[in-house]
Amino acid sequence: MPNAYQNMTDAALDAAIAELEAQAADLRALDLKLDMARGKPSPEQTALSKPMLDLLTADSDLSDQGVDADNYGAPDGLPSARALAAELLGVDAANVSVMGSSSLNIMYDCVEHGYVHGIGGEKPWCQQGEVKFLCPAPGYDRHFTVTESFGIKNVPVPMREDGPDMDVVREYVEKDATVKGIWCVPKYANPTGVTYSDEVVRAFAALKPAAPDFRIFWDNAYAVHTFDGEGDELLNIFDALAEQGAEKNLVYEFASTAKVTFPSSGMAWVTASPADMAELRRAFSAMRVSPEKISQLAHVKFLKDAAGVAEHMKRHAALVAPRFALVEEKLSSGLGELGCATWTHPKGGYFVSFEGPRGSAKAVVSLAKELGVTLTPAGAPWPYGEDPEDTNIRIAPTYPSLEELGQALDVFVVAVKLVSARLAKA
Ligand code: PLP
Repeated sequence: MPNAYQNMTDAALDAAIAELEAQAADLRALDLKLDMARGKPSPEQTALSKPMLDLLTADSDLSDQGVDADNYGAPDGLPSARALAAELLGVDAANVSVMGSSSLNIMYDCVEHGYVHGIGGEKPWCQQGEVKFLCPAPGYDRHFTVTESFGIKNVPVPMREDGPDMDVVREYVEKDATVKGIWCVPKYANPTGVTYSDEVVRAFAALKPAAPDFRIFWDNAYAVHTFDGEGDELLNIFDALAEQGAEKNLVYEFASTAKVTFPSSGMAWVTASPADMAELRRAFSAMRVSPEKISQLAHVKFLKDAAGVAEHMKRHAALVAPRFALVEEKLSSGLGELGCATWTHPKGGYFVSFEGPRGSAKAVVSLAKELGVTLTPAGAPWPYGEDPEDTNIRIAPTYPSLEELGQALDVFVVAVKLVSARLAKA
């Protein structure tokens, strides 16, 4: 359907462009320096976890169920940290390894394991010629960077409102043995905010991969990051696998407290089937003696259990929800009537995914930059940075203050309108 600018007469369109150019000039004169680019918690959010820093002192007991946090040992992490991680994902603590502060780092280690050593006794991927990973797009750019850095071919898969297009996924995974993995963010996905439906989760669990060394990289980064009330329910993929009967070695699931406590100083973990975990443990044991555990101890003292995490996340929600409400308000009041854009309305997570007219995204990002607002580069949520339609922009509203966010969104709206009007003219 044509948008409001495409419906205008030439004269009306020229007048609209002149008016928008005047608005852009006014904004440029403000010399703003605002950032809506990366999904980072605001300083008020990280402040919520600062009391954790007071929980360990020189006098603290640094043992956890017989394990010393201040020495080597416990390669899978502290027992209490494993119990907390397992409870948050609804899995057995026996199948959880907690290590380091970054889940992306563990994902990298798992891709490297497949690439260098091979998965399930198969040849390493580096000896198998061209291998591929499926990348539901738009998705998380750093996932795609991990596989790209190994020379693995990233193949985009369309994202729908309830998850990746499973017909496309099934076709690739079940027919092409060079497909070795898929990147998934199953809850409040980066950047669409989509939570996979039960049907999609069951379809993942039912996959019969052509390659025995295919694994689903299930990055449950936003498992507990709901804004208000109940939020979305994600079916536990290990429960979906259990419904199938025979134990399958199919899923590596990852999560971290990056956006619960402190990004890059949280605790991160992986869980998988017993056989996959045994193999990953062997790989990890060549990389390190044992993981950092002092931060794990601080985390379990602070967060305690899933109920403690839920309480803490309510405090995050009180800061984050008004920012997402402001995005909704500014976009619907600024663009709602024009028919030139759509955007997602997530109930949790860190992003809103915005779709403008075909061929507009790069121009909008560049105009917003000129007007003092940094956005995620257009195309970033696509493998190799290539958005085929040049329509998608990722909005990350959490870091700026409400006032700055409001200003940044005003700039964004003017940039979208001006680019849309210019495209209608072209
Ligand atoms: N996974 C997703 C989907 C993310 O959006 C992010 C950060 O933005 C991460 C992982 C990074 O997590 P970590 O800090 O645990 O490496």
